[in-house]
Amino acid sequence: MAFTTLDEARVEALGCVKCRLAKGRTQVVWLDGNPASDLMFVGEAPGFHEDRQGKPFVGAAGKLLDGMLASIGLDRTRCVICNVIKCRPPGNRDPQPDEIETCSPYLRAQIDFIKPTVIVTLGNFATRYILQRQVSISRVRGGVFQAFGAKVIPTFHPASALHSGGEGSPAWEAIRSDFDLIGKQLSASKSVEPAPEPAPAAKAPLAEALLEQGSLF
Ligand code: SF4
Repeated sequence: MAFTTLDEARVEALGCVKCRLAKGRTQVVWLDGNPASDLMFVGEAPGFHEDRQGKPFVGAAGKLLDGMLASIGLDRTRCVICNVIKCRPPGNRDPQPDEIETCSPYLRAQIDFIKPTVIVTLGNFATRYILQRQVSISRVRGGVFQAFGAKVIPTFHPASALHSGGEGSPAWEAIRSDFDLIGKQLSASKSVEPAPEPAPAAKAPLAEALLEQGSLF
């Protein structure tokens, strides 16, 4: 599936019935924020509130995300927020591999047309999709990778920080630390030419995903 514009992808997604998740959704959740920005957050899938409101990260996890953005002097007008999966899985279950595969052209279009210089992956599903590796978020967070022509910074999903003790918990503090890293990488990317977009064939395995800090496994 190839789109000629981001809006063409959006219009197709809003009416999409290509996987089983179409049956249970209230609406497709496309993105929030400013598509002209350099910074993209990629989460997992819409939850209850996102499905009702049609926007990603609008519940408690969204408030945490907004607070973390404010801590580095940003808000939703200076980033774009989306998910790997555009429709809510029933009961907030994990997305299935075939659902991720079927929905992936929409995220690919969002990345291809928005061209972020920094992609922040929130949780395991987004991190594995963007890095195309079966990594564990707890092992890769705190590092900086290269994929889709952008620096990739994996961090915990905000919901996991809320479920594991909230403010002051290790997960919360890890996200806070990762947001400091986001701020630094954004500043650095503004002072250099963006990395050239890799050829499509080179993107798929992403074997050269670069870990600047620590080891993947
Ligand atoms: S989850 Fe993605 S592929 Fe499935 S129906 Fe929604 S937009 Fe289409």
